[in-house]
Amino acid sequence: MNAGSYANAGTALMATLGPHLQASTASGRPLGLLMLGLQGLRQFNIQNGYGNGERLVAKVQAMVQAALRPGDLVFQIGPADFAVLLPVIPDGKHAVLAASRLLRQFEQTLEVNGRPVLASVAVGIAVAPEHGLDADSLCRHAEASLALALGAADRMAMAPAQVFDTGIEPADLREAIQAGHLGIHFQPLWDLRAGRVAGAEALARWQHPTRGAISPAVFVPMAESTGMIAELTRWSINASLQHAVDAREAGIRLPVSINLSAVAFAERGLVEHLVGALRLWGVPADDVVIEVTETAIIADLDKGARILDRLSAEGVRVSIDDFGVGNSSFAYLREFPATELKIDRSFVTGMLGNERSLQLVKAMIDFAHHLGIRVVAEGVEDTATLERLAELNCDHAQGYAIGRAQPAADFIAGLVAGH
Ligand code: C2E
Ligand code: CA
Ligand code: CA
Repeated sequence: MNAGSYANAGTALMATLGPHLQASTASGRPLGLLMLGLQGLRQFNIQNGYGNGERLVAKVQAMVQAALRPGDLVFQIGPADFAVLLPVIPDGKHAVLAASRLLRQFEQTLEVNGRPVLASVAVGIAVAPEHGLDADSLCRHAEASLALALGAADRMAMAPAQVFDTGIEPADLREAIQAGHLGIHFQPLWDLRAGRVAGAEALARWQHPTRGAISPAVFVPMAESTGMIAELTRWSINASLQHAVDAREAGIRLPVSINLSAVAFAERGLVEHLVGALRLWGVPADDVVIEVTETAIIADLDKGARILDRLSAEGVRVSIDDFGVGNSSFAYLREFPATELKIDRSFVTGMLGNERSLQLVKAMIDFAHHLGIRVVAEGVEDTATLERLAELNCDHAQGYAIGRAQPAADFIAGLVAGH
Protein backbone atom coordinates (compact mmCIF):
# COMPACT_ATOMS: atom_id res chain seq x y z
CA MET A 1 0.00 0.00 0.00
CA ASN A 2 1.55 3.31 -0.96
CA ALA A 3 0.43 6.92 -0.98
CA GLY A 4 -0.54 6.61 -4.64
CA SER A 5 -3.13 3.99 -3.81
CA TYR A 6 -5.33 6.51 -2.02
CA ALA A 7 -4.08 9.81 -3.46
CA ASN A 8 -7.31 10.33 -5.39
CA ALA A 9 -9.38 7.96 -3.33
CA GLY A 10 -11.79 10.64 -2.16
CA THR A 11 -12.76 11.55 -5.70
CA ALA A 12 -12.91 7.87 -6.68
CA LEU A 13 -15.29 7.27 -3.78
CA MET A 14 -17.49 10.17 -4.88
CA ALA A 15 -17.53 8.86 -8.46
CA THR A 16 -18.75 5.47 -7.23
CA LEU A 17 -21.22 7.07 -4.86
CA GLY A 18 -22.89 9.13 -7.61
CA PRO A 19 -24.79 6.35 -9.41
CA HIS A 20 -25.65 4.60 -6.14
CA LEU A 21 -27.13 7.82 -4.81
CA GLN A 22 -29.18 8.27 -7.96
CA ALA A 23 -30.52 4.75 -7.59
CA SER A 24 -31.28 5.40 -3.94
CA THR A 25 -33.13 8.63 -4.72
CA ALA A 26 -35.07 6.94 -7.51
CA SER A 27 -36.11 3.95 -5.41
CA GLY A 28 -36.67 5.97 -2.25
CA ARG A 29 -34.51 3.51 -0.31
CA PRO A 30 -31.81 4.94 1.93
CA LEU A 31 -28.09 4.49 1.47
CA GLY A 32 -25.46 4.45 4.21
CA LEU A 33 -21.92 5.73 4.28
CA LEU A 34 -19.61 4.81 7.14
CA MET A 35 -16.22 6.41 7.78
CA LEU A 36 -13.85 4.32 9.83
CA GLY A 37 -10.75 5.89 11.30
CA LEU A 38 -7.90 3.88 12.79
CA GLN A 39 -6.35 5.82 15.67
CA GLY A 40 -2.78 5.85 16.82
CA LEU A 41 -1.16 4.72 13.55
CA ARG A 42 1.61 7.27 13.91
CA GLN A 43 2.45 6.04 17.39
CA PHE A 44 2.30 2.46 16.13
CA ASN A 45 4.72 3.35 13.30
CA ILE A 46 7.08 4.97 15.77
CA GLN A 47 7.13 1.88 17.91
CA ASN A 48 6.99 -0.79 15.23
CA GLY A 49 8.14 0.72 11.93
CA TYR A 50 6.34 1.42 8.65
CA GLY A 51 6.39 -2.23 7.52
CA ASN A 52 4.34 -3.30 10.49
CA GLY A 53 2.19 -0.18 10.20
CA GLU A 54 1.28 -1.19 6.65
CA ARG A 55 0.56 -4.73 7.81
CA LEU A 56 -1.70 -3.36 10.52
CA VAL A 57 -3.63 -1.20 8.04
CA ALA A 58 -4.05 -4.20 5.68
CA LYS A 59 -5.37 -6.30 8.57
CA VAL A 60 -7.77 -3.53 9.50
CA GLN A 61 -9.06 -3.43 5.93
CA ALA A 62 -9.52 -7.21 5.90
CA MET A 63 -11.37 -7.01 9.20
CA VAL A 64 -13.67 -4.30 7.87
CA GLN A 65 -14.36 -6.44 4.82
CA ALA A 66 -15.12 -9.46 6.99
CA ALA A 67 -17.75 -7.53 8.96
CA LEU A 68 -19.69 -6.50 5.86
CA ARG A 69 -22.34 -8.03 3.71
CA PRO A 70 -22.06 -8.94 0.02
CA GLY A 71 -22.60 -5.81 -2.04
CA ASP A 72 -21.09 -3.45 0.54
CA LEU A 73 -18.01 -1.64 -0.76
CA VAL A 74 -14.83 -0.64 1.09
CA PHE A 75 -12.50 2.16 0.02
CA GLN A 76 -9.25 3.18 1.62
CA ILE A 77 -9.32 6.96 1.51
CA GLY A 78 -6.34 7.86 3.67
CA PRO A 79 -3.42 6.26 5.49
CA ALA A 80 -5.67 5.25 8.36
CA ASP A 81 -9.14 5.92 6.96
CA PHE A 82 -11.70 3.76 5.25
CA ALA A 83 -15.09 4.51 3.75
CA VAL A 84 -17.76 1.85 3.61
CA LEU A 85 -20.66 2.19 1.22
CA LEU A 86 -23.86 0.38 2.13
CA PRO A 87 -25.69 0.74 -1.21
CA VAL A 88 -29.19 -0.21 -0.08
CA ILE A 89 -30.45 -0.32 3.47
CA PRO A 90 -34.05 -0.59 4.70
CA ASP A 91 -33.63 2.46 6.97
CA GLY A 92 -31.07 4.59 8.83
CA LYS A 93 -31.02 2.20 11.80
CA HIS A 94 -29.34 -0.40 9.62
CA ALA A 95 -26.36 1.90 9.09
CA VAL A 96 -26.03 2.14 12.88
CA LEU A 97 -26.25 -1.65 13.15
CA ALA A 98 -23.54 -2.05 10.52
CA ALA A 99 -21.36 0.42 12.43
CA SER A 100 -21.76 -1.51 15.69
CA ARG A 101 -21.01 -4.77 13.89
CA LEU A 102 -17.80 -3.17 12.63
CA LEU A 103 -16.83 -1.94 16.07
CA ARG A 104 -17.57 -5.32 17.63
CA GLN A 105 -15.25 -6.94 15.12
CA PHE A 106 -12.46 -4.75 16.46
CA GLU A 107 -12.93 -5.95 20.01
CA GLN A 108 -10.71 -8.89 19.07
CA THR A 109 -7.00 -8.45 18.53
CA LEU A 110 -5.27 -8.49 15.16
CA GLU A 111 -2.01 -10.27 14.67
CA VAL A 112 0.79 -8.13 13.32
CA ASN A 113 4.26 -9.57 13.09
CA GLY A 114 3.33 -12.38 15.40
CA ARG A 115 2.04 -10.06 18.11
CA PRO A 116 -1.54 -9.29 19.13
CA VAL A 117 -2.61 -5.71 18.48
CA LEU A 118 -5.84 -4.12 19.63
CA ALA A 119 -6.70 -1.61 16.90
CA SER A 120 -8.50 1.47 18.16
CA VAL A 121 -11.11 2.56 15.63
CA ALA A 122 -14.05 4.93 15.51
CA VAL A 123 -16.91 5.01 13.03
CA GLY A 124 -18.88 7.96 11.68
CA ILE A 125 -22.25 7.37 10.07
CA ALA A 126 -24.10 9.30 7.38
CA VAL A 127 -27.33 8.32 5.67
CA ALA A 128 -28.91 9.55 2.43
CA PRO A 129 -31.32 11.24 2.03
CA GLU A 130 -31.23 12.60 5.65
CA HIS A 131 -27.68 13.91 5.44
CA GLY A 132 -27.56 14.87 1.80
CA LEU A 133 -28.55 13.82 -1.67
CA ASP A 134 -25.25 14.41 -3.37
CA ALA A 135 -21.94 12.64 -2.90
CA ASP A 136 -20.16 15.72 -1.63
CA SER A 137 -22.50 16.52 1.23
CA LEU A 138 -22.89 12.88 2.19
CA CYS A 139 -19.10 12.48 2.43
CA ARG A 140 -18.81 15.69 4.44
CA HIS A 141 -21.44 14.47 6.88
CA ALA A 142 -19.70 11.12 7.22
CA GLU A 143 -16.39 12.91 7.93
CA ALA A 144 -18.06 15.19 10.47
CA SER A 145 -19.60 12.14 12.15
CA LEU A 146 -16.20 10.49 12.37
CA ALA A 147 -14.82 13.62 14.04
CA LEU A 148 -17.63 13.30 16.62
CA ALA A 149 -17.11 9.55 16.97
CA LEU A 150 -13.44 10.05 17.90
CA GLY A 151 -14.60 11.85 21.02
CA ALA A 152 -17.52 9.55 21.82
CA ALA A 153 -17.30 6.93 24.53
CA ASP A 154 -18.91 4.28 22.32
CA ARG A 155 -16.66 5.14 19.38
CA MET A 156 -19.46 5.82 16.91
CA ALA A 157 -21.57 8.80 15.97
CA MET A 158 -24.10 9.95 13.45
CA ALA A 159 -23.88 13.60 12.48
CA PRO A 160 -26.85 15.35 14.05
CA ALA A 161 -28.95 16.20 11.01
CA GLN A 162 -29.96 19.53 12.51
CA VAL A 163 -26.42 20.90 12.60
CA PHE A 164 -26.45 20.99 8.88
CA ASP A 165 -30.16 21.27 8.18
CA THR A 166 -30.40 24.42 10.28
CA GLY A 167 -27.57 25.80 8.21
CA ILE A 168 -25.19 26.63 11.05
CA GLU A 169 -21.97 27.64 9.38
CA PRO A 170 -18.45 27.98 10.76
CA ALA A 171 -18.69 31.72 10.04
CA ASP A 172 -21.63 31.88 12.48
CA LEU A 173 -19.40 30.46 15.18
CA ARG A 174 -16.74 33.12 14.67
CA GLU A 175 -19.44 35.77 14.80
CA ALA A 176 -20.93 34.17 17.91
CA ILE A 177 -17.59 34.32 19.72
CA GLN A 178 -17.16 37.97 18.81
CA ALA A 179 -20.76 38.89 19.56
CA GLY A 180 -20.63 37.25 22.99
CA HIS A 181 -23.18 34.55 22.21
CA LEU A 182 -20.96 31.96 23.82
CA GLY A 183 -21.10 31.56 27.56
CA ILE A 184 -19.54 29.45 30.28
CA HIS A 185 -21.62 27.11 32.38
CA PHE A 186 -20.24 25.67 35.59
CA GLN A 187 -20.91 22.14 36.78
CA PRO A 188 -19.98 21.25 40.37
CA LEU A 189 -17.18 18.85 41.26
CA TRP A 190 -18.04 17.24 44.56
CA ASP A 191 -15.54 16.28 47.25
CA LEU A 192 -16.80 12.87 48.40
CA ARG A 193 -14.90 12.88 51.69
CA ALA A 194 -15.51 16.46 52.79
CA GLY A 195 -19.06 16.50 51.37
CA ARG A 196 -18.74 19.87 49.69
CA VAL A 197 -18.16 21.52 46.32
CA ALA A 198 -14.49 21.14 45.42
CA GLY A 199 -14.49 23.10 42.20
CA ALA A 200 -16.30 23.59 38.92
CA GLU A 201 -15.84 22.40 35.37
CA ALA A 202 -16.27 25.15 32.79
CA LEU A 203 -18.46 23.95 29.92
CA ALA A 204 -19.03 26.18 26.92
CA ARG A 205 -22.52 26.86 25.58
CA TRP A 206 -23.46 28.59 22.35
CA GLN A 207 -26.66 30.49 22.92
CA HIS A 208 -27.95 30.74 19.38
CA PRO A 209 -30.47 33.56 18.84
CA THR A 210 -32.93 31.35 16.96
CA ARG A 211 -31.80 27.80 17.58
CA GLY A 212 -31.32 27.85 21.33
CA ALA A 213 -28.41 26.31 23.21
CA ILE A 214 -25.91 24.39 21.11
CA SER A 215 -23.62 21.83 22.78
CA PRO A 216 -19.84 22.02 22.50
CA ALA A 217 -20.04 18.43 21.25
CA VAL A 218 -21.33 20.07 18.06
CA PHE A 219 -19.31 23.25 17.73
CA VAL A 220 -15.92 22.19 19.10
CA PRO A 221 -15.41 19.65 16.26
CA MET A 222 -16.61 22.36 13.87
CA ALA A 223 -14.04 24.80 15.27
CA GLU A 224 -11.34 22.13 15.07
CA SER A 225 -11.98 21.32 11.44
CA THR A 226 -12.21 24.93 10.28
CA GLY A 227 -9.12 26.40 11.93
CA MET A 228 -11.05 28.26 14.59
CA ILE A 229 -10.04 26.22 17.58
CA ALA A 230 -7.28 28.63 18.68
CA GLU A 231 -9.79 31.44 18.82
CA LEU A 232 -12.30 29.30 20.70
CA THR A 233 -9.64 28.13 23.15
CA ARG A 234 -8.53 31.69 23.89
CA TRP A 235 -12.12 32.68 24.46
CA SER A 236 -12.80 29.74 26.74
CA ILE A 237 -9.66 30.28 28.84
CA ASN A 238 -10.40 33.98 29.29
CA ALA A 239 -14.08 33.53 30.03
CA SER A 240 -13.41 30.74 32.54
CA LEU A 241 -10.71 32.75 34.35
CA GLN A 242 -12.97 35.78 34.48
CA HIS A 243 -15.53 33.72 36.39
CA ALA A 244 -12.79 32.37 38.66
CA VAL A 245 -12.00 35.99 39.53
CA ASP A 246 -15.71 36.68 40.20
CA ALA A 247 -15.79 33.75 42.60
CA ARG A 248 -12.69 34.99 44.46
CA GLU A 249 -14.14 38.46 44.71
CA ALA A 250 -17.27 36.93 46.19
CA GLY A 251 -15.07 35.35 48.84
CA ILE A 252 -15.07 31.81 47.45
CA ARG A 253 -12.08 29.76 46.47
CA LEU A 254 -13.25 27.89 43.42
CA PRO A 255 -10.75 25.85 41.42
CA VAL A 256 -11.90 25.86 37.79
CA SER A 257 -11.37 23.04 35.32
CA ILE A 258 -10.96 24.08 31.69
CA ASN A 259 -11.29 21.70 28.73
CA LEU A 260 -8.73 21.70 25.95
CA SER A 261 -9.63 19.90 22.76
CA ALA A 262 -7.06 17.59 21.18
CA VAL A 263 -6.34 20.04 18.38
CA ALA A 264 -6.07 22.98 20.79
CA PHE A 265 -3.70 20.98 22.92
CA ALA A 266 -1.33 20.57 19.98
CA GLU A 267 -1.43 24.27 18.98
CA ARG A 268 1.71 26.32 19.37
CA GLY A 269 1.72 28.98 22.01
CA LEU A 270 -0.91 27.33 24.15
CA VAL A 271 1.08 27.28 27.37
CA GLU A 272 2.25 30.87 26.86
CA HIS A 273 -1.32 32.00 26.31
CA LEU A 274 -2.56 30.27 29.41
CA VAL A 275 0.25 31.60 31.59
CA GLY A 276 -0.28 35.12 30.22
CA ALA A 277 -4.00 34.89 30.94
CA LEU A 278 -3.38 33.70 34.51
CA ARG A 279 -1.15 36.74 35.15
CA LEU A 280 -3.59 39.08 33.46
CA TRP A 281 -6.49 37.90 35.60
CA GLY A 282 -4.40 37.40 38.72
CA VAL A 283 -5.57 33.82 39.15
CA PRO A 284 -3.14 31.52 41.03
CA ALA A 285 -2.01 28.71 38.75
CA ASP A 286 -3.02 26.03 41.21
CA ASP A 287 -6.62 27.20 41.06
CA VAL A 288 -6.76 26.01 37.46
CA VAL A 289 -7.07 22.46 36.22
CA ILE A 290 -6.52 21.77 32.54
CA GLU A 291 -8.57 18.83 31.29
CA VAL A 292 -7.11 17.07 28.32
CA THR A 293 -8.08 13.68 26.93
CA GLU A 294 -5.79 10.75 26.92
CA THR A 295 -6.19 10.44 23.14
CA ALA A 296 -4.95 14.01 22.71
CA ILE A 297 -1.80 13.23 24.66
CA ILE A 298 -0.92 9.97 23.01
CA ALA A 299 -1.60 11.34 19.52
CA ASP A 300 1.91 12.77 19.79
CA LEU A 301 3.42 11.34 22.89
CA ASP A 302 6.66 13.31 23.10
CA LYS A 303 5.00 16.61 22.39
CA GLY A 304 2.13 15.78 24.74
CA ALA A 305 4.53 14.99 27.57
CA ARG A 306 6.48 18.19 26.89
CA ILE A 307 3.37 20.37 27.09
CA LEU A 308 2.21 18.66 30.26
CA ASP A 309 5.65 19.13 31.82
CA ARG A 310 5.56 22.84 31.05
CA LEU A 311 2.06 23.24 32.42
CA SER A 312 2.94 21.52 35.65
CA ALA A 313 6.19 23.52 35.93
CA GLU A 314 3.97 26.61 35.88
CA GLY A 315 1.96 25.12 38.72
CA VAL A 316 -1.14 24.41 36.61
CA ARG A 317 -2.81 21.12 37.48
CA VAL A 318 -3.51 18.61 34.75
CA SER A 319 -6.45 16.24 34.56
CA ILE A 320 -6.70 13.31 32.16
CA ASP A 321 -10.27 13.49 30.85
CA ASP A 322 -12.40 10.63 29.52
CA PHE A 323 -10.00 8.15 31.06
CA GLY A 324 -10.44 4.54 30.05
CA VAL A 325 -11.79 4.98 26.53
CA GLY A 326 -8.38 5.16 24.87
CA ASN A 327 -6.57 1.89 24.37
CA SER A 328 -3.29 2.40 26.11
CA SER A 329 -4.34 4.12 29.29
CA PHE A 330 -2.50 2.50 32.15
CA ALA A 331 0.99 2.16 30.72
CA TYR A 332 1.31 5.77 29.62
CA LEU A 333 -0.07 7.42 32.70
CA ARG A 334 3.08 6.78 34.70
CA GLU A 335 4.98 9.09 32.35
CA PHE A 336 2.71 12.09 32.75
CA PRO A 337 2.76 14.75 35.43
CA ALA A 338 -1.01 14.41 35.81
CA THR A 339 -2.61 15.39 39.07
CA GLU A 340 -6.05 14.04 38.35
CA LEU A 341 -7.77 11.34 36.37
CA LYS A 342 -11.42 11.54 35.31
CA ILE A 343 -13.03 8.18 34.81
CA ASP A 344 -15.13 8.35 31.68
CA ARG A 345 -18.83 8.43 32.32
CA SER A 346 -19.40 5.33 30.16
CA PHE A 347 -17.94 3.31 33.06
CA VAL A 348 -19.61 5.24 35.85
CA THR A 349 -23.23 5.75 34.76
CA GLY A 350 -24.94 2.43 35.40
CA MET A 351 -21.89 0.84 37.05
CA LEU A 352 -24.09 -0.59 39.78
CA GLY A 353 -25.85 -2.79 37.26
CA ASN A 354 -22.70 -3.83 35.45
CA GLU A 355 -20.12 -5.89 37.32
CA ARG A 356 -17.42 -5.35 34.69
CA SER A 357 -17.77 -1.55 34.80
CA LEU A 358 -17.74 -1.64 38.58
CA GLN A 359 -14.54 -3.68 38.65
CA LEU A 360 -12.93 -1.34 36.12
CA VAL A 361 -13.90 1.73 38.15
CA LYS A 362 -12.43 0.09 41.25
CA ALA A 363 -9.23 -0.77 39.40
CA MET A 364 -8.87 2.75 38.01
CA ILE A 365 -9.31 4.29 41.47
CA ASP A 366 -6.72 1.97 43.03
CA PHE A 367 -4.30 2.46 40.17
CA ALA A 368 -4.55 6.26 40.31
CA HIS A 369 -4.10 6.31 44.07
CA HIS A 370 -1.08 4.09 43.69
CA LEU A 371 0.44 6.80 41.51
CA GLY A 372 -0.65 9.53 43.91
CA ILE A 373 -3.26 10.89 41.54
CA ARG A 374 -6.72 12.17 42.49
CA VAL A 375 -9.73 10.47 40.92
CA VAL A 376 -12.93 12.08 39.66
CA ALA A 377 -15.86 9.94 38.58
CA GLU A 378 -17.99 11.71 35.99
CA GLY A 379 -21.52 10.89 34.88
CA VAL A 380 -22.83 10.17 38.38
CA GLU A 381 -26.57 10.21 37.80
CA ASP A 382 -27.99 8.72 41.02
CA THR A 383 -27.27 8.81 44.75
CA ALA A 384 -26.69 5.04 45.00
CA THR A 385 -23.74 5.39 42.61
CA LEU A 386 -22.54 8.42 44.54
CA GLU A 387 -22.52 6.45 47.80
CA ARG A 388 -20.80 3.47 46.24
CA LEU A 389 -18.06 5.72 44.86
CA ALA A 390 -17.47 7.13 48.32
CA GLU A 391 -17.11 3.57 49.64
CA LEU A 392 -14.64 2.83 46.87
CA ASN A 393 -12.56 5.74 48.15
CA CYS A 394 -13.04 7.82 45.01
CA ASP A 395 -12.02 11.44 45.66
CA HIS A 396 -14.42 13.56 43.63
CA ALA A 397 -17.65 13.05 41.73
CA GLN A 398 -19.45 14.96 39.02
CA GLY A 399 -22.83 14.42 37.41
CA TYR A 400 -26.54 15.06 37.39
CA ALA A 401 -26.92 13.51 40.87
CA ILE A 402 -24.88 16.42 42.24
CA GLY A 403 -25.78 19.18 39.84
CA ARG A 404 -26.14 20.01 36.19
CA ALA A 405 -24.16 22.71 34.45
CA GLN A 406 -25.68 26.16 34.89
CA PRO A 407 -24.62 29.68 33.88
CA ALA A 408 -21.41 30.44 35.79
CA ALA A 409 -22.82 33.61 37.40
CA ASP A 410 -25.85 31.67 38.76
CA PHE A 411 -23.57 28.93 40.03
CA ILE A 412 -21.40 31.41 41.94
CA ALA A 413 -24.46 33.22 43.32
CA GLY A 414 -25.76 29.85 44.54
CA LEU A 415 -22.50 29.10 46.33
CA VAL A 416 -22.49 32.53 47.95
CA ALA A 417 -26.09 32.07 49.12
CA GLY A 418 -25.25 28.64 50.55
CA HIS A 419 -22.37 29.93 52.63
P1 C2E B 1 -16.67 16.42 28.96
O1 C2E B 1 -15.38 17.12 29.27
O2 C2E B 1 -16.68 14.93 29.14
O3 C2E B 1 -17.77 17.14 29.84
C1 C2E B 1 -18.80 16.51 30.49
C2 C2E B 1 -20.05 16.45 29.65
O4 C2E B 1 -20.95 15.53 30.27
C3 C2E B 1 -20.79 17.78 29.59
O5 C2E B 1 -21.46 17.87 28.34
C4 C2E B 1 -21.77 17.63 30.74
O6 C2E B 1 -22.91 18.47 30.61
C5 C2E B 1 -22.16 16.18 30.61
N1 C2E B 1 -22.60 15.61 31.89
C6 C2E B 1 -22.35 16.07 33.13
N2 C2E B 1 -22.88 15.29 34.07
C7 C2E B 1 -23.49 14.30 33.41
C8 C2E B 1 -24.24 13.13 33.84
O7 C2E B 1 -24.45 12.88 35.03
N3 C2E B 1 -24.70 12.32 32.86
C9 C2E B 1 -24.50 12.57 31.53
N4 C2E B 1 -25.01 11.72 30.64
N5 C2E B 1 -23.80 13.63 31.10
C10 C2E B 1 -23.30 14.48 32.03
P2 C2E B 1 -21.30 19.17 27.43
O8 C2E B 1 -21.34 20.38 28.28
O9 C2E B 1 -22.28 19.05 26.30
O10 C2E B 1 -19.84 19.07 26.88
C11 C2E B 1 -19.46 18.10 25.94
C12 C2E B 1 -17.97 18.11 25.73
O11 C2E B 1 -17.55 19.30 25.10
C13 C2E B 1 -17.20 18.08 27.05
O12 C2E B 1 -17.11 16.75 27.46
C14 C2E B 1 -15.88 18.72 26.68
O13 C2E B 1 -14.97 17.75 26.19
C15 C2E B 1 -16.23 19.64 25.53
N6 C2E B 1 -16.20 21.04 25.99
C16 C2E B 1 -17.02 21.70 26.80
N7 C2E B 1 -16.66 22.99 26.94
C17 C2E B 1 -15.53 23.15 26.21
C18 C2E B 1 -14.64 24.26 25.97
O14 C2E B 1 -14.80 25.38 26.47
N8 C2E B 1 -13.59 24.03 25.15
C19 C2E B 1 -13.36 22.80 24.61
N9 C2E B 1 -12.29 22.63 23.83
N10 C2E B 1 -14.16 21.75 24.81
C20 C2E B 1 -15.24 21.91 25.60
CA1 CA C 1 -14.03 17.60 30.67
CA1 CA D 1 -15.14 13.76 30.31
